Amino acid sequence: MRIVAITNQKGGVGKTTTSVNLSACLAQMGVRCLLIDLDSQGNATSGLGLAKEEGGSIYSALVEGTDPHEVIRSTRMPHLSVIRSHQELAGCEIELAQRGNHLTRLREVLDQLRHSNHFDYIFLDCPPSLGVLMTSALAAADEMLVPIQCEYFGLEGLSSIVQVVQQIRDCGVNPNLLLEGIVMTMYDQRANLANQVVNDVKSYFAEVIYNTIIPRTIRLGEAPSFGKSIIEYEPNGRGSQAYRALAEEFLARRATK
Ligand code: ADP
Ligand code: MG
Repeated sequence: MRIVAITNQKGGVGKTTTSVNLSACLAQMGVRCLLIDLDSQGNATSGLGLAKEEGGSIYSALVEGTDPHEVIRSTRMPHLSVIRSHQELAGCEIELAQRGNHLTRLREVLDQLRHSNHFDYIFLDCPPSLGVLMTSALAAADEMLVPIQCEYFGLEGLSSIVQVVQQIRDCGVNPNLLLEGIVMTMYDQRANLANQVVNDVKSYFAEVIYNTIIPRTIRLGEAPSFGKSIIEYEPNGRGSQAYRALAEEFLARRATK
């Protein structure tokens, strides 16, 4: 089992969209996925059609010590499960920080899931800030996957992510954390700037950049309001094709490593 943090401290870059649709596409291929919604806004939870306030959450597991297996919920898709977020998650950053074990608390919770071996991948949909939850996600993860938006300011912040990875490795909390990949999202082929950004990122991060580029499509933006992943909402559209290609590339990269 591998734990993959989907992360970028910028908001609105496609973290949640990628978390939901990558895990849905992998699940459709028969890969057993668990998506953990670490953002107090709960967009991944509602984007998969689950009520935000129903049942236990990752907050219960982190703060109240509930067995994480008890808060796993199934979705309409056979191989896709979710642990929902909780509004209180935002406040829990402070609570966790005061406890002193904030960096490792999420890892302890995930270790319990690691041992039961119900999943091939756990994806962590991270909140848009370099706070306690995001750093604990990086402390717990085997790999990180970074979506960036294909626009000029998309590159901003990328260097601070690289720095944070280095710090997490160096401080000994998670020496093996791997920057597995960068995915370019919301690509608009009509915008010259988008092409330039793609080329820049490809030259700086040739090793880790995904070949698959996620286009900006109206349907990808709409699907969450229907509580559906893109493969349920528009199975044969461009958004579905792109996220399926991403899922295939995600698996293919492992096969060759
Ligand atoms: P983040 O989780 O990084 O904050 P989101 O995945 O929530 O970003 O995306 C931000 C907004 O952009 C959301 O409203 C989402 O539906 C929309 N969006 C994300 N990716 C696409 C895309 N490829 N095409 C169109 N809209 C998108
Ligand atoms: Mg999000």
